[in-house]
Amino acid sequence: MGDRLRPDFNGRIHRAHEERERAELRALVISSPTNIAYLCGFAGTAGMLVLSPGEARLLADGRYEAGARRRVRDGSMGPVEVESVTRRYDLTLAAVIERLRARRTGFEAEHVTVATLASWQRATPGIEWVATERLIERHRMVKDAGEIAILRRACRGVSDVARGMAAFVSEGRTELEVARSIDEALDRAGFDEPAFPTIVASGPNSASPHARPTDRRLVQGDLVLLDFGGRLDGYCGDLTRMAAVGQVGAEARSLFEAVREAQAAAISAVRPGQEAPAVDTAAREVLERHGLGQAVLHATGHGLGLELHEAPRIARPDPNHTDRLEAGMVCTIEPGAYVDGFGGVRLEDDVLVTADGCEVLTDAPRDLVVV
Ligand code: ZN
Ligand code: ZN
Repeated sequence: MGDRLRPDFNGRIHRAHEERERAELRALVISSPTNIAYLCGFAGTAGMLVLSPGEARLLADGRYEAGARRRVRDGSMGPVEVESVTRRYDLTLAAVIERLRARRTGFEAEHVTVATLASWQRATPGIEWVATERLIERHRMVKDAGEIAILRRACRGVSDVARGMAAFVSEGRTELEVARSIDEALDRAGFDEPAFPTIVASGPNSASPHARPTDRRLVQGDLVLLDFGGRLDGYCGDLTRMAAVGQVGAEARSLFEAVREAQAAAISAVRPGQEAPAVDTAAREVLERHGLGQAVLHATGHGLGLELHEAPRIARPDPNHTDRLEAGMVCTIEPGAYVDGFGGVRLEDDVLVTADGCEVLTDAPRDLVVV
């Protein structure tokens, strides 16, 4: 960790308690591994965090228990009591809730299956289970100084990889070979792992937004879409750039220019107080003006943090969530246009919402890289 900022677990747990109180819950069960990691630094694949007045209790099984206790003692994890799960999580959870006399207990509706909830209900007769939504995600949207510092490094790292693109995108190589080169470059740039399977889509394959790399060889006149990301100290950087193999035709050029214009319009719409769907609309309107309304197949962007895709969603209005941008949010701006049988273009950058607009954290040139 060196001189890096230690996450403010105390503050995060404190704000989670405030959410619990606001929802009038005696106990709140956090079961999303990402939310648990955010609140206390626990990185196991299983575990539960039970918040109750004056207490944060981590339920962990034999695989993680000793490590968690050690990390709480040395301060690399937040201030939680560790409770061992010897048989089954639902039984330990029921015992904890019984002890707390938590008649109204909250759970994370987006992270608990119907079957899991039923097993908890069976184990805790007489307890009222209350569905909550995004109590922790709401706080995760706005990054603190330590998180922004990590995201800055991640964005610099993916930008460095993009700047080196011309060295590994070339005629005759397959998409899979190019993807492997990107993964190696991510490794050299210091990332812990790719944030998602690298996308390299050439020629007609680029018409599919989430194409997986194939053994297709790059040929003259191809547009090549490269979308890759890296995870660094838990946080994701995410970038898409376009290359052209030799000279591409006028249609490819104008598709590229339209997407570039759409991305610029969306980036200039990013500011605190702005509704996230308005940023999506800014990109969409440009593409529609270029006659590409039918070529828009996905939302304009997503929040970026411990998860590759998190709130806020930069997408069409959703009656369930009105995300409003706030200073400290980090999100991608990645409009694309896809023409079946021909090809597609996407440009993706990561931006930090600032007090009066935004700062683009990914600084690789956005030009069509001709190789
Ligand atoms: Zn991406
Ligand atoms: Zn993305």
